[in-house]
Amino acid sequence: MDKYINTHIVVIGSGPSGYTASIKCANIGYKVVLIEKYLNLGGTCLNVGCIPSKYLLYISKVINLNKYLYKKGIFINKNKFNLHKIKLKKDKIINLISGNLFKLVNRHNILLLNGISNFLTPESIEVFDGKKRYIINFNYAIIASGSVNNFKDFNILYNYRVWDSTDALNLNFIPEKFLIVGCGFIGLEIATIYNFLGSRKIDIIDCCSKYLTFLDKDIFDIYSNYLKDKFNFKLSYKLLDIKLVNDNLYVYMNNCINNKLENKRYDAVLISTGRSPNINFNNLVDVGINLNNNNFIKVNDFFQTSRLNIFAIGDVIGHPMLAHKGIYQAKNVIDIISGNFYNFRFNNIPKIIYTDPEISWVGINEIEAKKNKIDFRSVVIPWKYCGKALINNCNVGVTKLIFNRNDNKIIGAFVVGNGGSELLGELSLAIEMGCDAEDLSLILHAHPTLYETISEASDVYLRNYYFGN
Ligand code: FAD
Repeated sequence: MDKYINTHIVVIGSGPSGYTASIKCANIGYKVVLIEKYLNLGGTCLNVGCIPSKYLLYISKVINLNKYLYKKGIFINKNKFNLHKIKLKKDKIINLISGNLFKLVNRHNILLLNGISNFLTPESIEVFDGKKRYIINFNYAIIASGSVNNFKDFNILYNYRVWDSTDALNLNFIPEKFLIVGCGFIGLEIATIYNFLGSRKIDIIDCCSKYLTFLDKDIFDIYSNYLKDKFNFKLSYKLLDIKLVNDNLYVYMNNCINNKLENKRYDAVLISTGRSPNINFNNLVDVGINLNNNNFIKVNDFFQTSRLNIFAIGDVIGHPMLAHKGIYQAKNVIDIISGNFYNFRFNNIPKIIYTDPEISWVGINEIEAKKNKIDFRSVVIPWKYCGKALINNCNVGVTKLIFNRNDNKIIGAFVVGNGGSELLGELSLAIEMGCDAEDLSLILHAHPTLYETISEASDVYLRNYYFGN
């Protein structure tokens, strides 16, 4: 027997966008149904994305630091680690956070249905949980169905050594020779994990001639200089095929510069060429929800799809695919539904790649500043002059601030260096609140800290471009 439910709001997907939207809606008194196809809550971010990858980055950096201290004679015993225990701890963290999400959902009286959902009409959706079919009539729906690895877009061999990011985070073994296809955030972070856990040779190929093109050139040069010591980058290389010969994995690729074919043996291959929107609903288009050319759900400035009572947020509507972007959009949508003030500033989305060194940035870069004809000045403070960076053994790095010359306000920032992403707290706030160089210089920064470099950069700006004028 079908079960009928009437609700104000149905949310599809329990990732960061979906759980934030559900809890916020329930907080202001709406009746909410949350639909999730998997048993665990938390979506990509918690189960196969941000949380496991950041845990593995943390632990692999600790292992690397131990190796360094041993080499320096500070540690007497050689560093050994237990891969199985690392995996157990990773799963424990995921389960702990997922359990907390269940508690939050229960505490807010949100009805959670486990199953795949499909729209029936623009005001109703069905969910089958394996035993029963639920038909939910809603006033508003919020699609937060996220994204999936686009591994399957490649017609290549399926083998236990050909991985997507989820396989790589399972840590089944540490390949000696490891090929990573794709120079994006995910490929670089997984390369960092495996480098520190013991992969001897890591090649990273990309069909583009440049990577991380949104970085300012000076920052890219500093950052890529550190990475090229760890990884062998092969740019303008296109993956053609992967073949298994006598249990050996051979990868065929085209060097697009000289159009020569190459093949090489690897112990594992990671395909990290991006993610595709999760539009696994049978009849999205039938109920009048339009997609754009890349199959992302098309929304207006208020996150409304072409069906105005159906909203979409997070990865499913496009780049950047970041958990905090989805969380922010979830808050915006609730404001819009409840008729409150709404403000989404795309430029102020902080971005971090947790490699070694880390790189993070917020606001606009020099390229955008030039495009928008902003008269700007940048100041770069190398971390080799920063006491805390020397103490923490992360003196390779810089803090770069970009100021608008007309009003001396900070408009953008880059930080290269381990621990640098924490500086984005102050930098995001400064950009959002319209702080100028004098504000940043006058704020009392604790010593010794990495964030002292923010006031130093502001002092240099004031000296060179304000007082010096
Ligand atoms: P998702 O988290 O993908 O959640 C969507 C949910 O919807 C899923 O649980 C799915 O099962 C469910 N669903 C889909 N279709 C249906 C349906 N028809 N019915 C019911 N349920 C459905 N971002 C960061 O900000 N920082 C990071 O450090 C970071 N690291 C990452 C590392 C990796 C390896 C990966 C893969 C991603 C990383 N990301 C990171 C990206 C981040 O995980 C995503 O941007 C974020 O999870 C998107 O959130 P979302 O809620 O939009 O979708």
